[in-house]
Amino acid sequence: MSEPAYVLDSTAFYAGIPYQGSGRYYTTYLVLEEVKHHNVGSSFIQTRVMVTEPSPESTNRVKTTAAKTGDLGALSQTDISLLALALDLKGADGGASLISDDFAVRNVAEVLSIPLAPTAMKGGEWKNITWKIYCRGCGKNYTNPKLVVCPVCGTQLVRKASNA
Ligand SMILES: [Zn+2]
Repeated sequence: MSEPAYVLDSTAFYAGIPYQGSGRYYTTYLVLEEVKHHNVGSSFIQTRVMVTEPSPESTNRVKTTAAKTGDLGALSQTDISLLALALDLKGADGGASLISDDFAVRNVAEVLSIPLAPTAMKGGEWKNITWKIYCRGCGKNYTNPKLVVCPVCGTQLVRKASNA
């Protein structure tokens, strides 16, 4: 059995990473740029995290896919780099699960068949993600993750990871 591998987004660093856990950790230079100002886990980053630049091919594929799914506008350059890195790692060494609680990131990952960790880091603990889907227009809550637009008033629905 190969040890688990993870692609970490910046929230994983802010929340605290399972320092004692086994496994391989990957991230991109853009994530490192974001977290270095916060001085989090610097020794962990130096000793345990492989920082890699994603290939231009995967970066382009992520952008093309996100444009098709309508998620491109919601993705930061950092999000795109993480997805591209996870795409590069797919198939190599059993791949790496992407850790992110961002809905657009998870959506694009699913389309590209990138393995997703079912959990996100919150307050230093692994938590299952549940989605809160609601309408900013009329305030109605929904549970169907496939809904994009509010059936009542037609407003684009907002998704938030909730770990309550
Ligand atoms: Zn509505």
